[in-house]
Amino acid sequence: MIETKNSTRRVTMISSISEMKEVSQSIQKQNLTIGLVPTMGCLHEGHLSLIKRSLESCDKTVVSIFVNPTQFGPNEDLDSYPRPLESDIEKLDEMGVDILFHPSKEEMYPTGYKTFVEIKNITEQLCGKSRPDLFQGVATIVLKLFNIIQPQNAFFGEKDWQQLAVIENLVKDLNLDVAIIRVPLVRESDGLAMSSRNRYLSVQERQSALSLSRTLQKAQDQIRQGITSAKTINNLIQKRLLETEGAKIDYISICDPVNFKEKEQIRGRTLIALAVKIGPSRLIDNCIIEEI
Ligand code: AMP
Repeated sequence: MIETKNSTRRVTMISSISEMKEVSQSIQKQNLTIGLVPTMGCLHEGHLSLIKRSLESCDKTVVSIFVNPTQFGPNEDLDSYPRPLESDIEKLDEMGVDILFHPSKEEMYPTGYKTFVEIKNITEQLCGKSRPDLFQGVATIVLKLFNIIQPQNAFFGEKDWQQLAVIENLVKDLNLDVAIIRVPLVRESDGLAMSSRNRYLSVQERQSALSLSRTLQKAQDQIRQGITSAKTINNLIQKRLLETEGAKIDYISICDPVNFKEKEQIRGRTLIALAVKIGPSRLIDNCIIEEI
């Protein structure tokens, strides 16, 4: 077990799978519950809201930080993904997190690694369309983390709505004994959805990035005023995003929030989800239209 450098730190950092398993088993033997918050680090208030929920409801909280290579495509930002480990550890200490699980790539995927989890039907749309490796990588790493840490509860953010659906299906279909807790999307005060990738944005790009949340807000206003045609709302969103400097639309989806089938009419619970490239960052945002 590696205690972090400063002796006042309380978080215990574990990087080996066997040690993490031993520690988890000893927690379970004491009849204590484990909450897991899987992350890729570069922690912000969005992550912290998941951690808070775990600290409130579980005896021990494990946060994992692992930039998972199998969920990145060949031309994506795996190498440049921010990894400010020291400041992440400080945040975990301040919050009173019990354990940081921070394995190496080699520990999680040793030479000869062969096994991947595939979830069908809900991974071909939205983010899965332009990032075909994403959800297989996510499902695989999350299943590995569940097997290693054996949490009773695991916390995921609604910012990654489709990812949450993938994980809920993984748990249901493979009969896993873990409760998935959904945590609402956390925004900056001006509406920008918090993301580790916001770090890549210049001042001008950050201004453009505001267009995602503002456009979603505008779409919700129009729907509240009685527009139910998905095409009309899609056109409105598209127009606003195309007017945004430096924005390249990946997708605009107005769909069922469970099976991601595109809707023609905005009736029943509806997800509006966007992915837009601004400068070096591919940003996502979403909102739910409750039954109207
Ligand atoms: P990541 O480090 O980006 O893989 O995210 C780790 C977890 O934090 C995932 O469950 C995300 O959905 C969640 N998360 C990231 N950003 C936010 C946010 N702005 N609000 C709520 N949850 C978030």
